[in-house]
Amino acid sequence: MNIYGHYIGGEYKSGISGRFGDVFNPSTGEISSKISFANKQEVENAIAVAQAAFPAWAATSALKRARVMTKFTALLYDKQHELATLVAREHGKVIEDAMGSVLRGIEVAEFASGAPHLQKGEFSDNVANGVDIYSMRKPLGVVAGITPFNFPAMIPLWMASMAIVTGNTVILKPSEKTPGCVYRLAELFVEAGGPKGVFNVIGGDKEAVDALLEDTRVKAISFVGSTAIAKSVYEKASANGKRCQAMGGAKNHMIVMPDADINAAADGIMGAAYGSAGERCMAISVAVCVGDETADKLIENLKPRVKNLKIGTSLETGLEMGPLITKEHREKVMSYIQMAKDEGAELVLDGRDFVLEGHENGYFLGGTIIDHVSKNMKSYQDEIFGPTLQIIRVGTFEEAVALTNDHPYGNGASIFTQNGAVARTFADTVEIGMVGINAPIPVPLAFYSFGGWKSSSFGDHNQYGMEGLRFYTKVKTVTSRWSKNAIGAEFSMPVHE
Ligand code: NAD
Repeated sequence: MNIYGHYIGGEYKSGISGRFGDVFNPSTGEISSKISFANKQEVENAIAVAQAAFPAWAATSALKRARVMTKFTALLYDKQHELATLVAREHGKVIEDAMGSVLRGIEVAEFASGAPHLQKGEFSDNVANGVDIYSMRKPLGVVAGITPFNFPAMIPLWMASMAIVTGNTVILKPSEKTPGCVYRLAELFVEAGGPKGVFNVIGGDKEAVDALLEDTRVKAISFVGSTAIAKSVYEKASANGKRCQAMGGAKNHMIVMPDADINAAADGIMGAAYGSAGERCMAISVAVCVGDETADKLIENLKPRVKNLKIGTSLETGLEMGPLITKEHREKVMSYIQMAKDEGAELVLDGRDFVLEGHENGYFLGGTIIDHVSKNMKSYQDEIFGPTLQIIRVGTFEEAVALTNDHPYGNGASIFTQNGAVARTFADTVEIGMVGINAPIPVPLAFYSFGGWKSSSFGDHNQYGMEGLRFYTKVKTVTSRWSKNAIGAEFSMPVHE
């Protein structure tokens, strides 16, 4: 049986804590690997290695760092299918979707290859007699990334690419449910010419995360996961004086206006609500229909398609949905479906009885549609993170926006309409970090940045793009005087008249 240890200083180390987690194949319910859970000592060793590698990497010219990133990007493209297979096997999302998710991660590495331009500082010449001012963007030191189960290659690439190319050294702690890709990414980085010790991986759980949060040598923490843990990681990291960005959960609304192209809206929902079995932080989990007629037309369009979703094991091709991540998570999603029913909502389609013949031990669930959901239901307030779509009926556009704004989460939202003025007002006023207009999953490309509002994100900088570059660098500003004329002693603050 494969046992993931730790990848530190370019070498695999077996875990010494004696604690392990199981990695499952969600399509079969079988254990595919084990992962070692690092203790504090093992984490401290990894930090020491990353710290030792920092000065030389930070002093490496920006162009050389970028060349390693370019080579790394090329290797990632070469290995895209291998990485996607690993994603599909451990996560359960279908292979085509896994390929797409890997690609979106590689695009960040590709963007990061332009860092020599992006990391340039500012310069003002002759701000006073012989005085110039310039600024530099310096790396922080050792930084850590803690990633969720649902994007095993993409999210680690968001973090590692931006952190490394700007001159930091990195320790990633992948989700213990889907760790395989991160080890492979670190190996490929070394294969691309990256110095050993720059990209390190530790297997672990809360104990490892706590050790990273407590150690003063770790200068920044990037976290992506559920809101309760994101908030606590943010609080602990900040209390310990670290820079922290912590992305949390979501409940993404799609507003369907009466003038929307219903077929296009339904197409959007099919991919956005049921793709990756709804286990995406940008999944559409609520359709807010303006008017009963809109809701009825939407349900009529969706119902047969959701009922006939092509569900199967993740490595088969041509499918639309795979299993959920674990047995426990499947049970949790099922309990939310029951909760919605108990709260008075109507189960238009109940995916709980779905069984995939021959794979009775896989964590499969059918697609579910829940109508007549209302604002105060707990099943609406909470993130479900499964292949369930809740439908809320409202009377006006203003009600739809107010509902979206009142929800505690603020990751993504989209609107389907043919009215440009309505779409523009929506984009302007909705209290959400990433907005789609006739686009169901508005995940920004690598040269923008990813981040939600409200309980979906804690900290100041988004992931990747220029925001990522700012997160992983600190500004130093230099004022220099090279003047032939003596200025004499100045006892007052210099002023410019
Ligand atoms: P999770 O919070 O359970 O785990 C995330 C990471 O935190 C993992 O590496 C895990 O090992 C670690 N962890 C778990 N318990 C911990 C604890 N008590 N203390 C410290 N660390 C701990 O999340 P998950 O189930 O892996 O991922 C799904 C969640 O992530 C969903 O809520 C989803 O919306 C969210 N997510 C958010 C984004 C975003 O960008 N906003 C992106 C992807 C996923």
